[in-house]
Amino acid sequence: MNTHEKINLLDLDRQGLEDFFTDIGEKSFRATQVLKWIYQFGVSDFEQMTNLGKALREKLAERAEIRVPEIVAEQVSDDGTIKWLLKLDSGNSIETVFIPEAERGTLCISSQVGCALECSFCSTAQQGFNRNLSCGEIIGQLWAANKALKCMPRSQRVVSNVVMMGMGEPLLNFDNVVRAMSLMTEDNAYGLSKRRVTLSTSGVIPAMDRLKQVSNVSLAVSLHAPDDALRDTLVPLNRKYPIAELLAACKRYVEGEHKRKITFEYVMLAGINDSPAQARQLAKLLKNIPSKVNLIPFNPFPQTDYQTSDRVHIDRFRDILMKAGLITVTRKTRGEDIDAACGQLAGKVKDRTKRQLRKQTRHVPFTS
Ligand code: SAH
Repeated sequence: MNTHEKINLLDLDRQGLEDFFTDIGEKSFRATQVLKWIYQFGVSDFEQMTNLGKALREKLAERAEIRVPEIVAEQVSDDGTIKWLLKLDSGNSIETVFIPEAERGTLCISSQVGCALECSFCSTAQQGFNRNLSCGEIIGQLWAANKALKCMPRSQRVVSNVVMMGMGEPLLNFDNVVRAMSLMTEDNAYGLSKRRVTLSTSGVIPAMDRLKQVSNVSLAVSLHAPDDALRDTLVPLNRKYPIAELLAACKRYVEGEHKRKITFEYVMLAGINDSPAQARQLAKLLKNIPSKVNLIPFNPFPQTDYQTSDRVHIDRFRDILMKAGLITVTRKTRGEDIDAACGQLAGKVKDRTKRQLRKQTRHVPFTS
């Protein structure tokens, strides 16, 4: 049998794995054993799964594989942030970032190769879009990071939190993202609490409602502007799902959930969205929603005209929100020296939207 016909076990959640074992005439409890081997012990070779009999190990090797994305480059920032480049197929690679802090280690995971949304301040958007990541490629980032971290000098480094804040719009790759997140929170796999797994979205409203039905992870929403006219220019998805409807969906997401808050992300762009009047407008908008606000200093990238708000503007903006009773945190920029900060992830995208081409041709002077 050729390897491409084999099923990648990383593409299956717990239920899928149980069904797989039943289908091949085995008991479903094998799923628990295999989940533990793959995710808790980091094993990718059936031969090492010693509590499975030899015959079963051979059967598995014939029909299945454990295929993880390969780390092809690693960069470590002065502040300890690590960025990995993972190769997926011939034309595509993605980036995954580990952010160590005193109390936790956060892994920032990508959900798509590139991004189909064209947020004007994000460098991933400049790359264009190629495809959705499979469940195995999403959970494989966590698998690969854990493996790599074990080899790092400080062995206590572990991933305690996951944020779906890398490349791509996770809610536009709904099924694979939800399945991968269920492996993150599954006791026999990574067993992270739902509060430690956060999905960030630009606001795909119908998918936010669907998410509530099937998952209970934390939600972050990229708001970035207090009015539709401005948000239309920063996050073009706003033309489809405007602010009032987005905030109503946020309310529905937290409804009936004990202590759940939405994190609103707000990138600080000098002279664009950082005035005191805009802070007051934002405070008014979020008044009735259980929320936290995360102010993100803009991270520049080549060929952008935007500039980061200075400290004084950011602090003033934060103070207005705090005075209005909103919990507000300014996100510390991490890994900037290795282009690992928010909005700087690029990887290598075989662009199918021709966006890169459109951008290049715009700069080519007309010659006859
Ligand atoms: N598509 C999802 C996931 C991306 S998360 C979303 O939009 O939420 C990455 C976060 O970083 C988002 O809030 C995004 O808007 C923000 N971001 C993008 N580019 C940035 C930049 N250059 N500087 C700072 N933050 C940026």
